[in-house]
Amino acid sequence: MFVSLQMKGYAEKSSWIRKMFEEGVRLKQEFGTNNVFDFSLGNPDVPPREEVLAVIERLAREMNHGYMHNAGYPQVRHCIAEFVRREYGVNVSGDDIIMTCGAGGAMNVVLRSILNPGDEVITLAPYFVEYGFYVENFGGRLVVVKCSEDFMPDITNIRKAITEKTKAIIINSPNNPSGRVYPQSVLDGFKGLLDGFPGILLISDEPYRRIVFDNIKLPSVLATVPNSVVVTSASKDLSLPGQRIGYIAVNPGIPERKELIDTFIMANRILGFVNAPAIMQMVMAECIDMNIHVENYQKRRDLITGVMDDAGLTYARPEGAFYLFVKSPIEDDVEFCRALAGEKILAVPGTGFGWPGYVRFAYCTSESAITGMAPGLLNVVDRLRG
Ligand code: PLP
Repeated sequence: MFVSLQMKGYAEKSSWIRKMFEEGVRLKQEFGTNNVFDFSLGNPDVPPREEVLAVIERLAREMNHGYMHNAGYPQVRHCIAEFVRREYGVNVSGDDIIMTCGAGGAMNVVLRSILNPGDEVITLAPYFVEYGFYVENFGGRLVVVKCSEDFMPDITNIRKAITEKTKAIIINSPNNPSGRVYPQSVLDGFKGLLDGFPGILLISDEPYRRIVFDNIKLPSVLATVPNSVVVTSASKDLSLPGQRIGYIAVNPGIPERKELIDTFIMANRILGFVNAPAIMQMVMAECIDMNIHVENYQKRRDLITGVMDDAGLTYARPEGAFYLFVKSPIEDDVEFCRALAGEKILAVPGTGFGWPGYVRFAYCTSESAITGMAPGLLNVVDRLRG
């Protein structure tokens, strides 16, 4: 009776990630945690670095735990700006940084600030399913444009999806779920497109920016597209997802930047979480260069792609993040996931990312889980292929 129709609808549809998570809880209760191969969640299992834990311990005693400015501590914003200048090659100051509750909080702040009811936000499938909920939080409508078969943005198709209601485009590289990284040429494509649409903001969701393999160098959205913001967090690269810390970096090239930043600060205040956690702001400022050892994930990437090769499955070769997007051996990816769950292997159907026919494996798991699933995977593939 109390629950709104919209929320009731959400609960009934519940995301595939959630469904697989619940299935995992059931299987683990029945067979024991070590006998279930759980690739359903993007919850990093690599611990934060010891130096980071030491900083958290020290700050817990030393710092003042009171309220602060809604944009975050000035000295923290100053430190993050210094990092952003180095990382993105743009001349931002502390005023251009807003500390947030993770990248999710940052995205909600941006969307709250720019959307009028009925406005459209374009994103590219396959995509992080929460974007749809975030956009609808503020009466917007998510418009999904498919990437090309190599999981790269198709600028021509994006152009066709733009209407007078389009307010923003959300991109995510390194990508969840495909693991692909957009090269400079793709960002140049966005620049060419958005030069013609000065009313559209490019929102670059980059929590995996520093989880890239084979020495790939990520290009800079902020240096390429003037009307852009970056939303990001310490969830993945410092391995602190439960601590809810992130930030928005606003491009100094945005003409109405001052008004936009003031609006972001207001949204950070009124969305209910009321600024980013105090201690984690200080931790992020001190530890910004202490990202986890990416070699751990690269080793797992090589291990899991080897397991897929042995099973004769094809996939998008991950260049970053910690997800492998595998082509289902049968058309129905949901059915493939059900068959995998029968072997106690949990993965998420591509349908949940707007890309049916594929399945996502999150390999932020132990190496033994990756090698351990091999016999069960082979059984399923052999059976389904007849
Ligand atoms: N964006 C993408 C693509 C993600 O995969 C995630 C988390 O899995 C987030 C945003 C949210 O991250 P945060 O913990 O920083 O809110």
